[in-house]
Amino acid sequence: MSSETLQTDVLIIGNGVSGLLLQYVLEHRGISSMLLSKKNIKSNLPLAETIPPTTLELLEELNALDFFEKYATKTYGYQSKWNSDYIVDESFFIKNKFGYGLKIDKKKVLNIIEQNASNILSVNEISKVQFNEKENKVKVQKINNDIVDISASLLVDATGRKRHFLKQANSKSIDYDDTLAFLCYLPKTGPDLKYGFFTEVISNDCWGTVSDLNETTRIITLHTSKNNEFHKVFKQFEHWRKLLNNTTLLQFCLPDKGNFKVYGKQANSSISSKIISNNIIGIGDAALAFDPISSHGISNAIYTVKEAAMAIEEYLNHNQESLVKYEQKLYAIFNEYLKQKEKLYQVIH
Ligand SMILES: Cc1cc2nc3c(=O)[nH]c(=O)nc-3n(C[C@H](O)[C@H](O)[C@H](O)COP(=O)(O)OP(=O)(O)OC[C@H]3O[C@@H](n4cnc5c(N)ncnc54)[C@H](O)[C@@H]3O)c2cc1C
Repeated sequence: MSSETLQTDVLIIGNGVSGLLLQYVLEHRGISSMLLSKKNIKSNLPLAETIPPTTLELLEELNALDFFEKYATKTYGYQSKWNSDYIVDESFFIKNKFGYGLKIDKKKVLNIIEQNASNILSVNEISKVQFNEKENKVKVQKINNDIVDISASLLVDATGRKRHFLKQANSKSIDYDDTLAFLCYLPKTGPDLKYGFFTEVISNDCWGTVSDLNETTRIITLHTSKNNEFHKVFKQFEHWRKLLNNTTLLQFCLPDKGNFKVYGKQANSSISSKIISNNIIGIGDAALAFDPISSHGISNAIYTVKEAAMAIEEYLNHNQESLVKYEQKLYAIFNEYLKQKEKLYQVIH
């Protein structure tokens, strides 16, 4: 076992869409950066996520549109039975420069960004951060067990809702709901979906989505809050047929036979009390996380990457204010989202 020391301007931790994309963008702008990818952590699931057309403009600006289009199908809207007896057909997607959105296979998209972002270090362990006025330090154990000391002027927390590094700088998570998501990969059964995506309210405080991952697989996700005492039964697929008994469409997307694995995920709206703290900057869900009905998560990750890349570049050119402005922008966006959420997203049945 040997030990070495590395220095970089920006050290990114977390290999989700925000971390990987930021490393790719910084590298292309000639900013010295490195991403730490922790190997013994749960890997990203192949989710079928929807990206609206406005986000495609952002991706084009970041020269990253090809990565997302490669493993995606185009979508022109979505269908929903949300607080109404009718299935609503939304096709606002066409009123935009691109005229379509994407349904991506997130796991495949992440793999291709990873192949194009060169400075990624796979590690077994990452130590607690040693804070210093000028630079932060972490000690990591590489997968061959060698130890590396890494110093960085800025550390980027891209660990999603875990906010693992911002929390070490005494930042707290402020939660606005406690939505949980339970998802299951199922063989494609039931009606064809016009846009590959459908949402339906199941009962008070409970709703579900069907999302086509590819020609043969559909993902059904049930959402409820941690406060709902029944949330424990959502974890077992054998209860799903009864739970969806009265639904208009969801029930027909369950195969008649078989038991399937259910994955539980946190999916709440929350923000970090400090998005910038002790030379740590949060991006993506680590900075601010939206509930899933908004379909904002990926767009937010991409937007924060664009803004963070600009703020980091200015910061490294001795403009200390740039990080403060980045933080203020994100707080303003989150406050607007909360207002809209209150108005539009209540689940009444
Ligand atoms: C069921 C579900 C459906 C969704 N559907 C949509 C959708 O249709 N459209 C949309 O826009 N968004 C959707 N989202 C939200 C979207 O997936 C997220 O907002 C987005 O992926 C956030 O990316 P991120 O990189 O910021 O965080 P994450 O994807 O959470 O990535 C964080 C990464 O950090 C790693 N990590 C965590 N802790 C550590 C640590 N201590 N050390 C090192 N690494 C660590 C994790 O392994 C992970 O790879 C959905 C989310 C869920 C759960």
